[in-house]
Amino acid sequence: MSRAETPSVDHSSSGQAMYALIEELYPLCRSITGEGLRETLRRIGREIPLEIHEVPSGTPVFDWVVPREWNIRDAFVRNPLGERVIDFRESNLHVLGYSVPVHRKMTWKELKPHLFTLPDKPDWIPYRTSYYKENWGFCLAHRQWEALEALGEDTEYEVCIDATLEDGSLTYGECVIPGRTEEEVLFSCHCCHPSLANDNLSGIAVATQLASLLRSGPRRYTYRFLFIPGTIGSITWLARHETQVANIRHGLVLSCVGDAGHPTYKKSRRGNAVIDRAVQHVLQHTGRAFEVEAFVPYGYDERQYCSPGFDLPVGCFMRTPNGRYPEYHTSADNLDLVVPAALEDSLRILYEVVQVLEQDRTYRSLNPKCEPQLGKRGLYSSVGGALGQGSLDQMSLLWVLNLADGRHSLLDMAERSGIVFNKLAAAAAALERVALIEAVT
Ligand code: ZN
Repeated sequence: MSRAETPSVDHSSSGQAMYALIEELYPLCRSITGEGLRETLRRIGREIPLEIHEVPSGTPVFDWVVPREWNIRDAFVRNPLGERVIDFRESNLHVLGYSVPVHRKMTWKELKPHLFTLPDKPDWIPYRTSYYKENWGFCLAHRQWEALEALGEDTEYEVCIDATLEDGSLTYGECVIPGRTEEEVLFSCHCCHPSLANDNLSGIAVATQLASLLRSGPRRYTYRFLFIPGTIGSITWLARHETQVANIRHGLVLSCVGDAGHPTYKKSRRGNAVIDRAVQHVLQHTGRAFEVEAFVPYGYDERQYCSPGFDLPVGCFMRTPNGRYPEYHTSADNLDLVVPAALEDSLRILYEVVQVLEQDRTYRSLNPKCEPQLGKRGLYSSVGGALGQGSLDQMSLLWVLNLADGRHSLLDMAERSGIVFNKLAAAAAALERVALIEAVT
């Protein structure tokens, strides 16, 4: 395959495959460290070659320290009849993430300050954590809280969180797919949330599928996929790879990519990086609704990649962003919220973005004085696109010839001409074949 031919890939069964992975990972109790995270990475490692790294607790990583490892076996609140009125086995969201162990009897009055609910969404269990401040607690539906409240402040409960918070390690997974050059494209997703489907698992599933797809084709760039716990994971990775980040040419954080909402792209801190322009170009040519937003120092791990000491060209690709769908960080971000067709659409867009990055080149015309005669080189007959040269058309040929001045990349030409990137790439490949242009980058 020449570098300007977009491989035709059938994504049609991938939505179901990604959804199946999400279903399988959904029940695991993940956190920023611990067995649930490890098990998740092992499962991803059955799909793609994943190197699993362990970084010991206490390791300094820039201004942070790798925390102790948290593992949980069981948790419950039992009423005087011995019934589990709050039960970790029903939902791992019932436990405040990183809760320190507790096992004792206490009154409802004593228990209440350790309970978290959402009064305005009374049927949903909130997702709460306390990673960096020692605490314990339970999360529950507000309706359930009200029913327990009605039993009185002096009712006594047996409260148990059978967890450990001990020296261990922080685990992350890394899949590197080497290309012809050491220049890298980074894809990063967080995998530290327990049973939440769109925020967390959708990114994991799409990243896994994309990695698997990219492994099977030729590549100019080296692709690095990171499956890391949010915030501390990217900080840890950056601290361990400070010198290697210079190879990163483009990058995307993937999150919330499985809901039915339209795609949203949050630009890198630079705002005009090639990745920012490539994603916008692909979205514009889908002909469907999308949103592009400026960088803000909030959200996912782009906060770390785009911190001023790194300022990497890393944007964030999402559908409905964090905090902007009612189910966000609640038990309603479940398997019903994620749609196979949306996963597939996200994958398709990302794959097209990769094709733009792979094929974006700057050319120099070898016949810059007036237009060259296309007919005698066999390019004229293909004009109109109906005669066997695929997407080759006259306007694409003319734009490439005109802007092949050693200063304009194909993406520049696509933006200036309004023509979809892959038509220009096909035209450039045809012009290169007849020695009318040559690539300078
Ligand atoms: Zn989240």
